[in-house]
Amino acid sequence: MDEKGFEALAVKDIITRANINRGTFYLYYKDKFDLLDQTLSEVIQDIGASGGIVFLNDGVRRFFIRTLGLDKREEGGYKVMGLRKVYVDHAATTALSTTAFQAMLPYFGDTFANPSAIHEYGVNAKAGVERSRRMIAKAIGAKNNEIFFTSGGTESDNWAILGAVAQRSSKGKHIITTSIEHNAVLKTAEALEKQGYEVTYLPVDYYGRITPEQLAEAIREDTVLVSIMMANNEIGTILPIKDLCQVARQRNVLFHTDAVQAVGQVKIDVRDLNVDLLSMSAHKFQGPKGVGALFVKIGRILPPLIHGGGQEKGSRAGTENVPGIVGMAAALEEAVATMAEKNRKVVAMRDRLIQGILKIPGSYLTGDPENRLPGMASFAFAGMDKKPLVTTLSKAGILASSASACTAGSINPSRILLATGASESLAYGSLRISLNEHNSEEDMDYLLETIPSVISNMRNGD
Ligand code: PLP
Repeated sequence: MDEKGFEALAVKDIITRANINRGTFYLYYKDKFDLLDQTLSEVIQDIGASGGIVFLNDGVRRFFIRTLGLDKREEGGYKVMGLRKVYVDHAATTALSTTAFQAMLPYFGDTFANPSAIHEYGVNAKAGVERSRRMIAKAIGAKNNEIFFTSGGTESDNWAILGAVAQRSSKGKHIITTSIEHNAVLKTAEALEKQGYEVTYLPVDYYGRITPEQLAEAIREDTVLVSIMMANNEIGTILPIKDLCQVARQRNVLFHTDAVQAVGQVKIDVRDLNVDLLSMSAHKFQGPKGVGALFVKIGRILPPLIHGGGQEKGSRAGTENVPGIVGMAAALEEAVATMAEKNRKVVAMRDRLIQGILKIPGSYLTGDPENRLPGMASFAFAGMDKKPLVTTLSKAGILASSASACTAGSINPSRILLATGASESLAYGSLRISLNEHNSEEDMDYLLETIPSVISNMRNGD
């Protein structure tokens, strides 16, 4: 049924009563059950809302539709606004691109064989893996034999760090990282501390930045590895990896960068950056989950983290996730090819959103205002509590996050904001809105209409 039809129902006394309470629209009727039950069920499907029938005692039926509200029309009709869903948590994960999905399909079907098998089917599967390796290498300016497939960003980070320190064990037991790394790096560094390694956590400034001078000062004779992320997953700050890497290079220290948030959004050329190790994860750039890669510069072969069969030239055992690998390559190739155009759109939306949200009293932009991920709009709100804020926004159809995905449910203040020198009370009020090209200006309209009122209501205790 279209909007007009619905209005007709609402005004022609078939509906005996209609009211709205806390975003739910209630319609009461006591005859024409067949017509109304079915029509209203169609309405909720059409507008993407939820709802259903309640049978009341006196023969009256009450149909409820969870909506965002009503536009009361002058002529007495109603327009029901469906519960709009705006997904703005792309830093946590992205939806699989159609290109990646299509590329993966044959590998769930006929090309299912084990790529280690030497028969025809196995050779076909292996060809998919090797073609993907070439595509990924090309996307980041690497050589084919510098790409090693893993189960994702976490494994790549673990392998890079644990492998690098094992490789350089005779040189020393000191590593350098930062106070704003993802847990995949931080917890690995902490595990090394328990094994007797010393770890320097470089502090960041208010914007989440680190300077080459800071790094130069921290490097010691026994430093074996520097691990610094390319872009922060919570506040979006992009770090000057090329300059930082140069410092490590001059001192003959291995350099790893966790580029999980940057790959697919920021142009990456590993030769220009001159890094030794670079982690990536497919699900951040519209590839599938559970697959990633580690770039290992030629000559830096790491001892394996996962022991077993001879896959990945004996460096990473385990039957390859062939559909995942193929999907990752297709997604990355597409992301790189469309990056400039996509980023223009995303940056325009992001900047409009930031400008609008900063009009809310007691709101702050977190991260570097200039060097930030194209889709990252991250904030802190005074006097707010991030978990209820995110859940209330979710009820209003805004699917955002307070911090990184793996700490999203945490009730602690954001450790990243604390590291940037934010007060504890402000660090409780973080909100991360991460966009991609599938968002629209209409989504931004909706965010800018809804977030200020949600925050104002929550501050007033409503
Ligand atoms: N590093 C960063 C910066 C991330 O944002 C993430 C994911 O949130 C990871 C590592 C972990 O990647 P994965 O989810 O593929 O294990």
